[in-house]
Amino acid sequence: MTLPPWLAPSWRMLADAIASGRIHHALLFASPRGYGKRALADAFAAALLCQQRNADGSACGKCRSCLLVAAGSHPDLARVTFEIRDDGRPRTELTVDQLRALGARLSLSSQFGGWQIALIDPADAMNPNAANALLKTLEEPSSNTVIALIADDPSRLPPTIRSRCRKIDLPMPTREEALAWLRSRGVEAGAAAATLDASMNNPGQAEAWLAEGALAMREECASDLAALTASRAGPTAIAERWASDRPDLRLWFAAALARDEARTLAAGRRGALGLTQRAEIPKLNAWFGRANQARGLLATPVRADLVLLDLLRGWPARSTS
Ligand SMILES: [Zn+2]
Repeated sequence: MTLPPWLAPSWRMLADAIASGRIHHALLFASPRGYGKRALADAFAAALLCQQRNADGSACGKCRSCLLVAAGSHPDLARVTFEIRDDGRPRTELTVDQLRALGARLSLSSQFGGWQIALIDPADAMNPNAANALLKTLEEPSSNTVIALIADDPSRLPPTIRSRCRKIDLPMPTREEALAWLRSRGVEAGAAAATLDASMNNPGQAEAWLAEGALAMREECASDLAALTASRAGPTAIAERWASDRPDLRLWFAAALARDEARTLAAGRRGALGLTQRAEIPKLNAWFGRANQARGLLATPVRADLVLLDLLRGWPARSTS
C-alpha cells in the first residue's frame, strides 16, 4: 500500500479504529479530486476485510480476503458507482434501485463472518430518491457494517445524510509534500513544479495533466495570449483552435495565466504575456473571473467557439476587437 504522505494522519486514525473495532457506521471521505481520498478509502476497506493485517494496520495483500478484494469479488465489499446504461454509456447519477439493493444486501449478515463495507462513489451523484433510500439504511445500521461515502463536492449531499456521517479529516499536502510525491512517481523536477503551479498545488491533477501532455498546452495558451497582447494574432483564430481541443482545460490554464500576470505586474515586473501597466491589474482580475465563468458555460449547450471568442475579445491589452 502506498498512500500519499499527507494522508498519513488520516490513515493512522482509520487503522486505530480498525484495531479497536470501534468504527462509525457511516464515514464521509470528502475533498476535491486529486488529493488521494479514493486511495485512502480503498486502503481502509482492504484493511478492514484483511485476515492478517501488517503491523502498521494495513492489508497484507496475500490472504484470501485480500486476493478477493484485489480481484473485485469479495462478497463483503460492495461498490456502488455509475452503472452502464443500455446504450453502453455510463449513467451520470446513482439511482434509487442501486441504493435500495445496497440496503437489502447490508441487512444480511457478512459472508466471511467479519465486517461488511460499502463504498459509494461518487456519493455526491446520488439523485434525491437514491439519497432517501440511503438515509433509511443509515437510520437503521446493521452491526459490523460500514458505509463509506466518497465525494468531491460534499455540499451536494443532503444535510440529513451528512449529519449521519463521521467526516474523515483529510489534510491538504504542503508544496514540498506534493512536489516530493510527484518526484517519487518519476516526474522531473521542473515539470513537477510547473504543473503544481498550474493546478494550484493539486498533485493528482498535476499528474493527470502530465500524462495528457497538458504542459505543452499551457505553453501554447501563454503564447496565444502573448500574441493577442502584441496584436500578432486575432481572437477568432485562437477561439476556433481552443474550441476544437479540450477548451475546458485551456480555459483553466488561461485563467491561471491571467492571475499570474496580475501578480507579476503587482510585483513591479513585466508580465510573461507582454502586459506592462499596473493599470491592467484590475482588468486581468476581472478577466480571470470571466474565464472561470466561461468554463462553466462550456457545460451548457452554448457553442464553445462563441464563448471563447467573446472572452478573448475582452483580453485586457486589446483596445479594439
Ligand atoms: Zn490480507
